[in-house]
Amino acid sequence: MIKKNKLNLINEIKKLAKLINTPFNILVVSHYNPDGDAIGSLLAMVHYLNKKGHKVSAMVPNEIPHFLRWLKDSEKVIIFQKNQKKAFKIIGQSDIIICVDFNTPGRIKGFGSKLIPSKAIKVLIDHHPNPDNIFDINLSDISVSSTAELIYKFILKAGDRKIIDSVIAECIFAGIMADTGCFSYNSSNPETFQIVADLLTCDINKDKIYNLLYDNFSSSRIKLMGYCLNEKMVIIPEFHVAYISLTREEMARYNFKTGDSEGFVNIPFSVKGIYITALFTEQKDHIRISFRSRGNFAINEFCEKHFDGGGHKNAAGGESKLPLKETIEKFEKLLNLYHNEIENIQLSEN
Ligand code: MN
Repeated sequence: MIKKNKLNLINEIKKLAKLINTPFNILVVSHYNPDGDAIGSLLAMVHYLNKKGHKVSAMVPNEIPHFLRWLKDSEKVIIFQKNQKKAFKIIGQSDIIICVDFNTPGRIKGFGSKLIPSKAIKVLIDHHPNPDNIFDINLSDISVSSTAELIYKFILKAGDRKIIDSVIAECIFAGIMADTGCFSYNSSNPETFQIVADLLTCDINKDKIYNLLYDNFSSSRIKLMGYCLNEKMVIIPEFHVAYISLTREEMARYNFKTGDSEGFVNIPFSVKGIYITALFTEQKDHIRISFRSRGNFAINEFCEKHFDGGGHKNAAGGESKLPLKETIEKFEKLLNLYHNEIENIQLSEN
């Protein structure tokens, strides 16, 4: 089975490499609430395809968080929510649409409905499980740390290693760094480090990238983090669970900007014996939920089944239409159902 998947991937890589040998109008898109891997992957492809002689545009549904806006040309990415007219025009003009770091149109919200009827050749480059069956070329590999890593592998297999300059290397490095929590998870495969080692030969400044990604926040974000940990973190030791919830009023109090709660969901893992974490944030018309798990507990299946979402085995996102309090009650009730499974979590299995 694995062998067949690998073979498929090699075929799809060949197809894409062949396709982009002639110049086209290409649109690269990534997902709602873009994270470091989304924007790193998006811009790595933009710079790479530009150097290959294509006319390239990039688009995301909503704004790019501040801590990612230093990546070269991030200001040129079209924000669909802010400029729908231009977005629709560009979608209409595209010969090829490349989707990075997501695999279902639902993840790009407003312009997802435009993706399917578009006549453009649709390409997927992604590492989430169970991609939709709407792509003409499908580079899907759940074994890689990040979409950025998969992009590096694609460029290499396409015979274009020499095209990777410091700008492209910086984007790929940022994507890998973000999706592995600075190489603390999703990074047990030696290949990830071989790729990073090669990227470090491309004249990038690893420490500068770290500082820009992790030491680049507003003081109000750090104060919000402190508030969350001091006042809002709920620990349920018997279920190995910790969660944080935030109302809209609380977020407003701390001058909340997109990306400000990035990483909060991982913090409770610092507490001994915590294997499952959740972050509930109240939005205008729903509750957004991020989940994380350790070991063999498939939080994506839990999330898909009960909170209308999905993702990776140890990192997933979903939502609830119930009010915040009821959403949390539902979560706590569900924990009872999963008690045995949680008790038997194997941490070493990944
Ligand atoms: Mn990713």
